[in-house]
Formats: sequence, C-alpha cells, structure tokens
Amino acid sequence: MEKPQQFIQDSETIAFNKEHRRIINYNIDKYTSATILGKQQFSNIDLAKQRAATTKNKVIENLDKYLIEFESNFIRKGGKVIWAQNAEEAIAEIKKIVSTTSRNYIVKSKSMVTEEIELNKELIADSIDVIETDLGEYIQQLSGEAPYHIVTPAMHRSKENIAELFNAKKHTSSDASPSELTEFVRNELREKFITSEIGITGANYLIADTGSVVITENEGNAISGMSFPKIHISICGIEKLIPSINDFDVFVTLLASFGTGQQITSYNSIVNGPKQSDEEDGPNEMYVILLDNNRTNLLALEEQRRALACIKCGACLNVCPVYKNVGGHTYGTVYSGPIGAIMTPHLKPEENYYHLSSASTMCGKCTVSCPVGIDIHKLLLYNRRDFVAKGHSTKTENLYRFFWKTAMLKRSKMDKGGAKVKNFMMRQFFRKQWGERREMPEVVSKSFNQLWREQRGIK
Ligand code: SF4
Repeated sequence: MEKPQQFIQDSETIAFNKEHRRIINYNIDKYTSATILGKQQFSNIDLAKQRAATTKNKVIENLDKYLIEFESNFIRKGGKVIWAQNAEEAIAEIKKIVSTTSRNYIVKSKSMVTEEIELNKELIADSIDVIETDLGEYIQQLSGEAPYHIVTPAMHRSKENIAELFNAKKHTSSDASPSELTEFVRNELREKFITSEIGITGANYLIADTGSVVITENEGNAISGMSFPKIHISICGIEKLIPSINDFDVFVTLLASFGTGQQITSYNSIVNGPKQSDEEDGPNEMYVILLDNNRTNLLALEEQRRALACIKCGACLNVCPVYKNVGGHTYGTVYSGPIGAIMTPHLKPEENYYHLSSASTMCGKCTVSCPVGIDIHKLLLYNRRDFVAKGHSTKTENLYRFFWKTAMLKRSKMDKGGAKVKNFMMRQFFRKQWGERREMPEVVSKSFNQLWREQRGIK
C-alpha cells in the first residue's frame, strides 16, 4: 500500500481506538497542566522566545561558520569530530570505534538521531548489543516498537500496560507499580553502565564558542552512560548549534518548560571533551558525530530552512489536533507531528512523505506553541506547494483544482448552473477527500452575491 493510503487507513483505525484516545488524552492533559506552571518562570516569555528564535536564525544562516568554530574548540580539548554525510557513514564510523573494544555491549541514552539512522538495528545485526537506558526508550526497546513521541517515547502506554509488558518480557509481577519497575530497571542498568566500554548519547545543543556538548535529561542515565565507559560517542544533527555559552540559559529553560513543564531539566551536562589529566571521571576518548543526512537539503530551501531551528521539545505534537487523534506511530516517521511533517519529506526525499503536510487543520496551534518561533503551519503550506510543483499530486486532483480555480476566478463561471450544479460538482470531486464521517456542506440556493443584488435591486 502507498504511504498516503496507509496513513489514512491507520489514522482511521487508531482514531476510533478508545483506549488509545484515553491514554493519550490523559498524558497530554498532564503535560498541558505542567507546562502552564513551567512557563510561569519567565517574566516575559515572548521575549525569551524571540531571543531563542533570533539566535537560532543566526545559526541557520551561518551554520558553516558555527560548525567549524565548534569543531576547532572541541578538538582543542582532545575531542574528535567525525563528519557524516549520511546514515551509512555515521554507522560505519561507529562500528569502526566499536571494533577497538571488546564489543560486549553499548549503553545508549535517548537520541532521536540514532532512531533516524536506525543505529540499534544496524549494530544488533552486527552482533553488537545496544541497551537503551532512558526508561521510556527501555520500555519501547522491550516491546520492539519505535518511540511514539520525540520527548516521551512511551506516551501511548498506561502503567498497567507497562506492567504487563515487563511481566511478559522480564517476569516481574503483573501488577508491579511504576516505582517497582523503575527499581528493577535501575538495578539491571547499573551493572551495564559499569561494564560497558562505550556510551552513546545524542546532544541537545552544541556550543560553538566553548566547543561543548549539552545533554539534558531527567533520569541521570546519560550522565552514567558518558562517565563510566571509556569511550563516549555523541551523535547529533548539524543544526544543533548555539553560538555561545551565554545563550545556554534561554535554551535550557525554554526546552524544560515547553518540553516537560519543568523549570529546568533535572540533569544538564555541559561536556567539553574526554577526561583531562587532572580529572578523575569521564571517558578516555570522546567523539562527536556531526550528521547531515539531508539536513542540507532543508538548509537549501529558503522558506523551509527555519524548521532546522527546532529544539525537539515536542510542544507542537502535544497541541496538534491531528496528532492527538492519530498518535505518533501512524505517521510512520521518526519525527512525527507537525515538525515531523515539515522535515521528513526533505530528510527522506527518496520516499514520499509529502502527504503528511496535509495532515493539518491549519489551526496554527503548533506555531503558537513553538518556543523558537517557527511558523510551523506556514512551512506546511510551503511543503504542500512544493508537493504540487514537483508533480506529486494526482491527475484527478489537478483536474478538479483546475476547474475550481477557473470557476473561482470569474463570477459568471462561479454562478453558472446554480446551487444544484455546484452541489453535484462538490459531491463528484470532493466527496472522497471530505471523508465518510463528515457531512458535505450544502451550497445554498442563493449565493451571497445574488442576495446582495436582490436586496439592493441591482441587476
Ligand atoms: S517545532 Fe517548535 S514546538 Fe515543535 S518540537 Fe520543534 S521546537 Fe518544539
């Protein structure tokens, strides 16, 4: 089945799954209440958003400069930078590093970029075990499912459902409480952190003027994963830069408030490279993999490149009426929701993901919710425009759009045939797209124009 049809079919199924709806509504409601409180820490939230937006714009417009600045500063402190044009290059470099170790297993913290390049699948196929150490990711790895949401990977699961999963896979009690399960995972992971030779993390930000990698998290698993093993690999997209350590305050607080409703995330690590001679903790080697993977396609598009400012807070997903109904997996992409719909067609141009740009009501809630001022719904419209310009729309669609435009541009054509013909044409051309569950709007017998003329006696 083609991707657009699959999306519609899966949306139809999941939208009527009451249990899914109940869990998602419950979790998003909790998120919404938390963010209301979290945002109160800003005396002028619009100013903070504006500052973040301006900073990220500056980065996007001068990305080459900031990348090189980061690289030279990071290398100065003993770190190694690897430039990867695509997933294959990134995976090959990681495998090369892994081959210098005993290859027992890798501890990994949450990272959407590693999902993007399907790192776990590739490593496991090469008999290298990868253990997810973020609780949500651990749950998803246990179930064999992809993350459901860019911030909360297991958002679609209830505590009962998680207990059942652990019971089936780890033989814990079927009615174990969340704290009992957390304790179980903690005990299992402690041993892994200590004995693994490699820790892989993502990066929330790269700071150009200090050559630092910023990792924010709530569980302390990323800190453990980059402190105990002798090698730390941080992999991130090239867009993750911020110019200066002086920008850190605004980004770290915006991400916490918009992502989880916290004032600040529990653990914020600014890592400057491997362990120095006067330091006791930290890895002997540290690598940063700067991944392009078609981000430069997006960078080349003057109108859509603003999407690269995204700090992956997930706020636009949580407010989106489409996401709330169809959920994260239906998109069939790593980055779901409104921002995923903008980015994915450019990150995966060989696959047709343009239909996702139409999965929007254009209500604009995503744009309002965005802490870095991305005009999300406008960018979706640019994608739709490009979709048509690239010839991806069907012949039937092109035909009815042609007739629609011809009629709309001339009053005499618009009025031709009256309401009866218009209703017939509407049903013929739009019934399928309108969907079975909505009543087609009826064109009334007299148009506004006719009523206006009649009232004023205009012929
Ligand atoms: S587009 Fe904005 S709201 Fe959506 S995830 Fe990115 S930063 Fe958050």
